[in-house]
Amino acid sequence: MSFNFSKANLPKQLFINNEYVDSKSSKKFSIYNPKNGDLVADDVPLAGEEDVDIAVAAAEKALPAWKAMKAVERRAIMLKFADLLDKHNSELAELSRITMGAPYGAWGKFEVGMSSQQFRYYEGWIDKFPGESFPQEDGYIKIVRNEPLGVTAGITPWNGPAGNFGMKAAPALATGNCFILKPSEKAPFSSMAIGALVREAGFPPGVLQVLSGDGSTGALLASHMRIAKISFTGSIGTGKKVQELAAKSNLKRVTLELGGKSPAVVFDDANLENAVEWCANMITANTGQVCIAASRVYVQEGIYERFIQAYKDAIISRSKTIGDPEKDGTQIGPLADELQFDRVMGFIQRAKDSKAGEMITGGKRIGDTGYFVEPTVFTNIDINSEIHQDEVFGPVSVVRTFKTEEEVLALSNNTKYGLMAGVFTQDINRALRIGSEFESGMVGINCISLFSVSAPFGGSKESGLGRECGIHALRAYTEPKTLMINMNYK
Ligand code: NAD
Repeated sequence: MSFNFSKANLPKQLFINNEYVDSKSSKKFSIYNPKNGDLVADDVPLAGEEDVDIAVAAAEKALPAWKAMKAVERRAIMLKFADLLDKHNSELAELSRITMGAPYGAWGKFEVGMSSQQFRYYEGWIDKFPGESFPQEDGYIKIVRNEPLGVTAGITPWNGPAGNFGMKAAPALATGNCFILKPSEKAPFSSMAIGALVREAGFPPGVLQVLSGDGSTGALLASHMRIAKISFTGSIGTGKKVQELAAKSNLKRVTLELGGKSPAVVFDDANLENAVEWCANMITANTGQVCIAASRVYVQEGIYERFIQAYKDAIISRSKTIGDPEKDGTQIGPLADELQFDRVMGFIQRAKDSKAGEMITGGKRIGDTGYFVEPTVFTNIDINSEIHQDEVFGPVSVVRTFKTEEEVLALSNNTKYGLMAGVFTQDINRALRIGSEFESGMVGINCISLFSVSAPFGGSKESGLGRECGIHALRAYTEPKTLMINMNYK
């Protein structure tokens, strides 16, 4: 069967051993379109224990041949798969859009493209991750092999289903692991549809499988005794649960990519236009539902008045592009679902009620159907307020002024999060000084909220554990094994 999925023909089966199969569990879940609240499907299979066991057994069976496959063959499969992801970019984006609302031009196209980019990047690594060897000065030659872990799994969030899949699956497969994907129950269809492409690309049965389900399916994977690694992206709370389940079961390896509350620090000497552009774009992209969103903005006093006027204007102009995610020209869609809408509106209301700051724009729902929210900015924010401290995961930023470098570093670092930070200044020494002092996994200089496939992606503190992308993901999917050769006799 070739790829023929669309919103009129949704994938509604598990993809196990290169076949679309009905779930053994009779449980189903429902999903709604966030642009109008309409039911999209009420019969999406929720994989249960038996389904997970069957997928794990298929992966175990596939593993020996997959990890022994010649690099040139594995590479051809991964490249063909990347081509197929590109070929079906718009269909895959549509399958996500109908349940999480991201416009194609502004997010969906990029997000699916990120997935194929990962496969292209990692297929090149297949025969270039060679291990180490050490001299025989003690009479023993030491050879260190990077061995695949075995059956691995990825649990993804809804805000970038395809991109997150690629970030996890591509390095896993390049290093010879098998991989089971459990997409978010809020946006599972693009992931469920890739089964057809997995088969067309020529992956052997059991190498790459997809199980739809909710947190209960995720928990089954995290606690499974024969899964060697979980790569998880989602909230901090769930990430902690995954780590606990992993520890309590077989001490499986865990990579956690969790939330953020990323500070953008704008100094007096910054290029104003550039700083405003990045700060406004990176709190409205994907309706603010981005883990590396620029959600805290700290502006030095000398540039504050000019910055805040231009920032407010930029946010208002982006608000004019909110609308139906199906329509060309829409840049900002609705929030992903009712729960997310209530969460974001709750943050805004509590900030207003507690006078946490001055709301200079936004704050309201748009229309009375769908989950559209105006991009919202609070200035003069109380640093102890909830909206300053917690991730909103919506188009809401908080702004504050600062006087000195020391003050803004303390402000930036006074948080449990540590995913991304940005500094805007023309002074390269200051940029590098501040850049090295931010407690965060990634720092932008005259930019923020950026991602690169070749550089480590992930957070410090409670924003995560381990890194995705670049060589770091290869290390996270392999175990070094030391072989010692005795050279002491003839
Ligand atoms: P979530 O934690 O609610 O869910 C993420 C995934 O975990 C889903 O697939 C869900 O089904 C699964 N899950 C839920 N309970 C589970 C359990 N007990 N065991 C195993 N799996 C379980 O997160 P979300 O709402 O889908 O995503 C939003 C969050 O993700 C935000 O906090 C955001 O910052 C974060 N995020 C982080 C990154 C990053 O790379 N750091 C990227 C995107 C999103």
